Amino acid sequence: MAHFYSKDDTHQAEQTSPDSDSAVTSGSPPGLSRRRKFLEMAVRGVAGGLIAPAGMELLSPSSVQAQTVISPKMALKELRRGNKRFVAVRMKSFDLDLAILRNHTSELQQPFAAVLSCADSRVPVELVFDQSIGQIFVTRVAGNVVTSEIIASLEYGVAVLGAKVIVVMGHGSCGAVDAAILGKEAPGQISALYPHIQPAIDQAGPDPLAVTKANARLQADLLRKASTVISGLLKEGKLLVLAAFYNIASGEVTFLDPDTDQDTDMNG
Ligand SMILES: [Zn+2]
Repeated sequence: MAHFYSKDDTHQAEQTSPDSDSAVTSGSPPGLSRRRKFLEMAVRGVAGGLIAPAGMELLSPSSVQAQTVISPKMALKELRRGNKRFVAVRMKSFDLDLAILRNHTSELQQPFAAVLSCADSRVPVELVFDQSIGQIFVTRVAGNVVTSEIIASLEYGVAVLGAKVIVVMGHGSCGAVDAAILGKEAPGQISALYPHIQPAIDQAGPDPLAVTKANARLQADLLRKASTVISGLLKEGKLLVLAAFYNIASGEVTFLDPDTDQDTDMNG
C-alpha cells in the first residue's frame, strides 16, 4: 500500500493520479498515512510530477503552490516527528528512493523547513530530523550565528522556496561557543565569530550550555527583527522562527521557546 516515493512502490506511484489525495490516506493506518500525507502536501508539486502518468511533464514551479497547504505548525510537527524517529533510530527517510527524489527535484525544490545550525560535524541536520533530498533548506556556520549572508539565504528559503518554519539550532559542546567564552586568540579569522556570540555570553554568563541556548534564542530573535521579509511573513502567520538545542549525545532536539516544546496539533 505504501506509495509516494518509497523504494518499494514506484510502479504504483506512477499509476496514481496526481489528485488522488484520498488514495493516500483512506484505508491506511493513521500512523502510516500521516507522514505520507504530510510529504505529499509538503512537496505537492514534486509529487505531482512524481506520480503523474509516464510521459507527463513535471509541473512547472510557477504552476504549483506546494507549501501553501502546509501550516507552520504542521512543518514543526514533522520536524518533531522526524527527530523522534532519529532518536529512536527508526528512520523512514532511508526508505525513500533517492534516485527518484534526485530526478524529481532536479529543477524544483520546495523545502518545508529551514534550519540554521552550527557547522559542527556532529550535527547532521537532515539526519537529525529524518528528512531527505529537497525537504530542509539548511544554512550552516560555526556558532549558528546570523550574518547578512545567512539572512539572505534564509530569506530565499522562506520567501522564494516557501519553507514554513526556520529553526535556529545550537548544540552541546560547541567549539565556537567555548572559544568565544574564553576569548582567546585563535588562528586566522576564527575570532571573527566572537562578537556574534558575545551578546549571549553577556546575557548568560560563562556557562557554555547556558550561552549556547541563549545564543540560539538571540540569533532567532535577530532573524525575526533584522529581516523585513521574515518579520512580514511572521506577521502574516505564514512562518515560525524558533530556537532549538540539539543534544549531540542523545540526538534529541529541544525547542527553547516556551510555547513550542510540546506537541502541536497536526491541523493547528
Ligand atoms: Zn558548534
